[in-house]
Amino acid sequence: MAKVLVFVEQREGKLKKASFELLGAASAAGHEVHALLAGSGVSGLAEGLGAYGAATVHVADDPALKNYTSESHTRVMLAAMKAASPQFVFATHSPMGRDLMPHLAAALDAGLASDCTMVKFSGDQIALRRPVYAGKATAEVEFTGSGPRLVSVRANALGAPKVDPARKASASKLAVDLAGLKTQAGDLQKGSSERPDVTEASVVISGGRAMKNAENFKIIESCADTLGAAVGASRAAVDAGYRPHRDQVGQTGKVVSPTLYIACGISGAIQHLAGMRTSKTIVAVNTDPQAPIFQVADYGVVCDLFTFVPLLTEEFKKLKDH
Ligand SMILES: Cc1cc2nc3c(=O)[nH]c(=O)nc-3n(C[C@H](O)[C@H](O)[C@H](O)COP(=O)(O)OP(=O)(O)OC[C@H]3O[C@@H](n4cnc5c(N)ncnc54)[C@H](O)[C@@H]3O)c2cc1C
Repeated sequence: MAKVLVFVEQREGKLKKASFELLGAASAAGHEVHALLAGSGVSGLAEGLGAYGAATVHVADDPALKNYTSESHTRVMLAAMKAASPQFVFATHSPMGRDLMPHLAAALDAGLASDCTMVKFSGDQIALRRPVYAGKATAEVEFTGSGPRLVSVRANALGAPKVDPARKASASKLAVDLAGLKTQAGDLQKGSSERPDVTEASVVISGGRAMKNAENFKIIESCADTLGAAVGASRAAVDAGYRPHRDQVGQTGKVVSPTLYIACGISGAIQHLAGMRTSKTIVAVNTDPQAPIFQVADYGVVCDLFTFVPLLTEEFKKLKDH
């Protein structure tokens, strides 16, 4: 049995479900699971992490940790590692995890396997896979040498954890010196969207250049809202000003791995595929039967999206009503 430390993400006191996947996978493999919970006013969230598999939660609750900075959270992670002495350290490959883990690896001179989409424990060993060459190939990653092994995992890659509400974690206050920090995050300006973020949603519906303008995205939004899905976009749609950059899926946007990805009027350029090809089921709607997106799609619909998407929305509504 190894000791695994999971960095649990929260924003404004709301835990990120991708962190539960990490706790669940480590716990299902029979490891001693430690979690780090950092923030301001977050202590009350610790016990509940037991339901997802955490045995011990190291809590760093301090006003200085209200908003994430690389400096403060690296310091907190180092303190948690001192307390837990883990063999493996996990974080989600989210914008926060992408920033934190390399800082931690540099501070520890440790190995980091990032953006993994498969994690398999075998006793104290671990087998990992990550997409390379914009998702065209998959690399198997091995750690060599000693020292803690750091892993960041793509959201939705490990599947939902087993939840046992009766299981409680024991919370332990983390002693961490936050004096003399050189950086501090100010107030966050929130986006206006109430929809889930593309990286977290289990369904993402994206539109491309074929949407023609921002107004037309309403048909995608309406379809997404029926399912509680996120709205994504290709870079062409973002560059044309139809959607904000936070919705962009792809190599220079966000990497998503939802259960269902519906691409509407998106050709399937390699840079777009880099951000969505690990989705569990891909549906493509395109008027061009030769569009490259059909090569990765599980279901292809050769049709005008302005005809198809409203019909799909209606069908989703009917299913929901029954
Ligand atoms: C360094 C670099 C980084 C990049 N990063 C990204 C990235 O992160 N994400 C990204 O998406 N792109 C990225 N790109 C751009 C990428 O190469 C493509 O240009 C872009 O993805 C094309 O967007 P699109 O599919 O919406 O548009 P197009 O390629 O123009 O495709 C539009 C599609 O819509 C179809 N269509 C037209 N009308 C309809 C209709 N009425 N109904 C249904 N289908 C219709 C067409 O047949 C076509 O296939 C990057 C490029 C570079 C060079």
